[in-house]
Amino acid sequence: MPETDDSQHDTRTFDVVVIGAGPVGENVADRAGRRGLSVAVIESELVGGECSYWACMPSKALLRPGAVLAAARAVPGASSLLQTSPAPTAVDVAATLGRRDVFVSHWDDDGQVAWLDSTGITLIRGRARFTGPRELVVTDDDGASTRVVARHAVVVATGSDPVIPDIDGLAEAAPWTSREATSVQDIPASLVILGGGVVAAEMAVAYADLGATVAVVVRGSRLLPRAEPFAAFEVADGLDVLGVDVRFGTKAVAVRRAPDGVHVTLAGGGEILADEVLVATGRAPRTADLGLEALGLEAGAPLSVDDALQVTAVEGGWLFAVGDVTGRTATTHQGKYDARVAGDVLAARFSASSGDGAGKAENETAAAAERSAAPWSRYRASADDAAVPQVVFTRPEVAWVGQTERQARDAGIEVRVVQYALGSVAGASLAADGYAGTAQLVLDDARGVIVGATFTGPDAAELLHAATVAVVGEVPLDRLWHAVPAYPTVSEVWLRLLETAGL
Ligand SMILES: Cc1cc2nc3c(=O)[nH]c(=O)nc-3n(C[C@H](O)[C@H](O)[C@H](O)COP(=O)(O)OP(=O)(O)OC[C@H]3O[C@@H](n4cnc5c(N)ncnc54)[C@H](O)[C@@H]3O)c2cc1C
Repeated sequence: MPETDDSQHDTRTFDVVVIGAGPVGENVADRAGRRGLSVAVIESELVGGECSYWACMPSKALLRPGAVLAAARAVPGASSLLQTSPAPTAVDVAATLGRRDVFVSHWDDDGQVAWLDSTGITLIRGRARFTGPRELVVTDDDGASTRVVARHAVVVATGSDPVIPDIDGLAEAAPWTSREATSVQDIPASLVILGGGVVAAEMAVAYADLGATVAVVVRGSRLLPRAEPFAAFEVADGLDVLGVDVRFGTKAVAVRRAPDGVHVTLAGGGEILADEVLVATGRAPRTADLGLEALGLEAGAPLSVDDALQVTAVEGGWLFAVGDVTGRTATTHQGKYDARVAGDVLAARFSASSGDGAGKAENETAAAAERSAAPWSRYRASADDAAVPQVVFTRPEVAWVGQTERQARDAGIEVRVVQYALGSVAGASLAADGYAGTAQLVLDDARGVIVGATFTGPDAAELLHAATVAVVGEVPLDRLWHAVPAYPTVSEVWLRLLETAGL
């Protein structure tokens, strides 16, 4: 049904209301709107969300020049044309930041608003809070309020916030989060990073490339706790080559900002002094200021969902959640996958009675298909359990999908692991002198399929999707044998891996 506007009570009513116009909220709104539902998206900051302005896009724009330089340095004929200023401080800082600014559209969301307009989705600017089931109040920057009601469903897509750990003096020291790190205008001479995950590792590389002296404080004994151990060790070695000082097995116990910089005191003594401190110790769902109490839910908690992205703790089938806020996904691509599934579920469930003629029949068919949906149908986000791809844009890059060896064994699968050195493949040795990287498959021999894959090395990210297809499709290994990689490409490692596996 179209939007209804009850101006006497300042109430706007839509079929579906989405809170948050990040990449995930935009996608669910688009998908739900395609089958004739009226959809509003409420956004308190910039349309496009964290990913567009303070996360994926700017971080990758900061990392790309260093990766390209490293690639050129590894190929005689190109390397000789480069100035031989000592690595690794050689990226052009002003040009790198300038290109980053273009990728974030100078923190202006006009382009994304124009796209929303073109889809027929209504954008409501302001902060949304629940006042009851399917009812919200939206408060804009001037303090004006609008009541927004959803006829059928509300989708929460409010993302996540960085966690600032409870360390003595840290909050008062005005630490950087990923927002300051990705929107930087003046590169500090030195940076200390707290954390050992994806953001910490990527920003360590980026800031080393940009000429800062970088230290990283890691509580555990390795980086990237979700990756295969060998990949984490290769990234640590890469940081060492870049001159990054990585301190494992320690943590910050006190932080103090003084005129000479930020003093970070480490457990067991020792101190690191840097111009800035970046906190990269994880993220939490953005649900603290959403009025969840009006629904009987706890503020600040993740919104757990089932495979149709419906919030499990709320009765009535009207509340859905997608993206970082669910705690189920922490990447744009997987959040957008969930958004496509949720959008199709909404359209199927709530368009059934609308339309006429062929449109009505199509909607009724979709509703019936959704009611009986099985895993791997378009109405269930089954890949979240089996095949989540992740890329870390460090040097070397790390890319993996599915289960690590440990995860598979913990799940009771008897697995066999095969590895191959990427540098031994003809395509890799052509790509770069001294190409170093590793490819690994985790095989479930009982079923004859791949359940996990990891690649490290320059541009390893581009090897990942073939593995994702193999894991999602549960492609039998003896059939995969017939997928012939072109010569001389880095993808020939697939052939070598299968040979190593005994095919
Ligand atoms: C440094 C960094 C680098 C990253 N790099 C990558 C990468 O390379 N690839 C990748 O896939 N992922 C990456 N990620 C993760 C990615 O940014 C997130 O997974 C993604 O942004 C999640 O999208 P979302 O739509 O769920 O949330 P968000 O992008 O956070 O969007 C949520 C939106 O909701 C709005 N909002 C919140 N509360 C309200 C409210 N009450 N009312 C109205 N609006 C509200 C916010 O203003 C925001 O615009 C990175 C993250 C970080 C921190």
